[in-house]
Amino acid sequence: MMPERWREGEVAVIGLARSGVGAALLLAREGVRVYASDGASEGVAAAGAARLAGAGIDASAGAHDLERIARAAVVVASPGVPPNAPPLAAARAAGVPIVSEIEVALRSLDGIRYIAVTGTNGKTTTTALIGHLLRTLGHRVADAGNIGTPLTEIALREDKPEWIALELSSFQLHDTPSVDPAVGVLTNLSPDHLDRYASATEYYADKALLFRNASERSTWVLNADDPLVTTMAANVPGAHRMFGIKTENAEMELAPADSGGEILWKGARVLARSELPLLGNHNVMNAMAASLAVIAADPAHATRSALARLADGLRSFRAPPHRLEMVGERGGVLWINDSKATNVNSTLVAIEGMTRPTVLLLGGRHKGEPYTALGKELRRIGRAVIAYGESAPMIEEDLDSVVRVERMGSDFAEVVARARELAHPGDVVLLSPACSSYDMFRNYEERGAAFRRLAVLT
Ligand code: ADP
Repeated sequence: MMPERWREGEVAVIGLARSGVGAALLLAREGVRVYASDGASEGVAAAGAARLAGAGIDASAGAHDLERIARAAVVVASPGVPPNAPPLAAARAAGVPIVSEIEVALRSLDGIRYIAVTGTNGKTTTTALIGHLLRTLGHRVADAGNIGTPLTEIALREDKPEWIALELSSFQLHDTPSVDPAVGVLTNLSPDHLDRYASATEYYADKALLFRNASERSTWVLNADDPLVTTMAANVPGAHRMFGIKTENAEMELAPADSGGEILWKGARVLARSELPLLGNHNVMNAMAASLAVIAADPAHATRSALARLADGLRSFRAPPHRLEMVGERGGVLWINDSKATNVNSTLVAIEGMTRPTVLLLGGRHKGEPYTALGKELRRIGRAVIAYGESAPMIEEDLDSVVRVERMGSDFAEVVARARELAHPGDVVLLSPACSSYDMFRNYEERGAAFRRLAVLT
């Protein structure tokens, strides 16, 4: 149920893309008065405004009425709106509470069972895995949140799913006071988004909000190998179910290669690591996190036959695009698209998984972390680094002493052509840029698609 307070006045929805539209429609359906606005006047914003107007909702594309927003009972912020954007600054200055689109949906979906996934890396893969595994077990499941489908769209459906696999970013957690999942998963923690947060501590504080309503009834699936995760969760009430590769006796673990390299749950074999159709140990961690979340979600998922079906689900899962996605092999060179690696740690796990000399494309918009953490692995496997885009000078300065670094500009076709020249037969060309794409592309998907297209040109 929507809070009474929201009905006392008007709710201002900021942003008219998919989640803003979903939030506005849901609020209106629940009898709440809505004013929705977007600073852009064309494209998605115009289409969103037209859709809402058609549903009788007051919506404007092209300008925000800041005075009106400052009088709202509550403001709903779309995930893409930076916290210092004028409409949010106006709300904050006037003491108007700001909530996420997820919060609006949870108010309406009161009582629905959901598994929430957060962490710095692996969120989308783990969320998609959870959805896929629950479907393999025969459940009706929706994958929602940061992964793509706004949660309000699920709330608007007549036919509700039995389970929701919900990916939550730190920004979404910041503004979701009602978050209280059946199972909460914390994949890992490392510095990220230092362009939006003043410090890593502030970023971690938002991640910790996953636990804000923790109680003895809660269940948490936690990365035993990550001291930042175990420290953060140490005093959180509820059951702690641990997965890990390096930690002994985690509930879900990986037997060493010399004893079969099997993924084990409470010592029992789930499947062989070699059967998992995903690259890299980080994906073994994602598979373990997702499996354990599904097992923890319902005791019925821990029977022998359910575990066998779960293993089938792990075998039939395919990595989402732009995450260590094989593009193809040309002239003995393997091209891999990891455009979604937008921070240093995600690039580190990508190169850790490489077994062939690698030409690494690194660059884009700098997010604040140094690149030196990549040095050790690049010394092992780096044929060359091509540093491109805005962050090229910083990359060159950080890595020049450990690997051949070629500094280039912002012409991506030239960057890919140079990679082709540098790669020898038997090498990998890996786009795993450790930066956001916004200096050169609309988003990481566009960057990955450009790489795919250019990679197969001969
Ligand atoms: P997110 O949704 O958190 O951004 P994704 O599942 O989309 O995570 O993966 C993004 C990138 O992060 C991948 O391309 C990979 O390089 C890296 N990654 C994925 N899983 C992990 C993990 N468990 N630990 C570290 N890095 C990971």
